[in-house]
Amino acid sequence: MKDSYVIGVDIGGTNLRIGAVTKDGALSFFERIPSPGVITGDAAGNLAGTLADYISRHDLGGKAAGISIGIPGTVSKDKSFIYSVPNLPALQNMDLGRILREKLDIPVWIDRDVNYLLMYDVRQQNLDPERNRTILGFYVGTGLGNAIYIHGHSYSGRNGVAGELGHIPFYRVDTPCGCGNNGCCETLCSGYHLADLARESFPDCEIGDLFTRHGEDPLLIDFIDTLSLPVASEITLLDPDCVILGGGVLSMKDFPMERFLDCIRLHTRSPYPSENLEFFFAEKSQASGVIGGAFSVFRILDP
Ligand SMILES: [Zn+2]
Repeated sequence: MKDSYVIGVDIGGTNLRIGAVTKDGALSFFERIPSPGVITGDAAGNLAGTLADYISRHDLGGKAAGISIGIPGTVSKDKSFIYSVPNLPALQNMDLGRILREKLDIPVWIDRDVNYLLMYDVRQQNLDPERNRTILGFYVGTGLGNAIYIHGHSYSGRNGVAGELGHIPFYRVDTPCGCGNNGCCETLCSGYHLADLARESFPDCEIGDLFTRHGEDPLLIDFIDTLSLPVASEITLLDPDCVILGGGVLSMKDFPMERFLDCIRLHTRSPYPSENLEFFFAEKSQASGVIGGAFSVFRILDP
């Protein structure tokens, strides 16, 4: 039956995840493929081949209302042209949406992966049943991911690239950032900075034990405080109904979540929004980006 599924695709630096998702969020045929074999050379052609094969193996021809593709980068406002993906340069500067539409004859939407993660968390935790709330998502993984959700949709700005919180400048920081600028807050507020810090200052400690063994070290206390600054800034700016926190760094063993929340409250404008901030935590799932992307496309198709 036509329009039964949206095919969700989540492209990360390590893995590409695909699944077929129904309107109520049921996931079928979930697969994980190493990204480097697909996102290389003629990445658009390879991806079209991977998707055509997926559709044929699972007999999804004629049953897919659309395809959602989440990428760790920036995309045009019409959700088609990819501007910048520092970790997957083979996808940069191309109208991937148009190319895939022409090759597969299925509508395609591309978006920042964090917009899809936030849509997933909002839907799964039923945080906006009336579609009238402002919800901010902060996902601390390799980088500092951020998504802004307003009244049922991801806020995308004039060019489609709103929410690049990791790339606001920090005062008197001039470290080069993957985006091409210097001094972005992500050079300090990210998993890759934490890994650098661990290598330099705690070389005998496995990264997974970092907070367990050294959580009270002034270097890590400072890392948590610094990480809270951009988060508190955006909360102060937008006074959200609630905040979702997620990502690999925040789910590390013994991550000092209470300290992190205290730092966010401390740096947020008082008395409000600081005094009644509502925090929720992202559900850890391999398929959040796949399902969240499908939710977003169903919402575009049937607003
Ligand atoms: Zn940057």
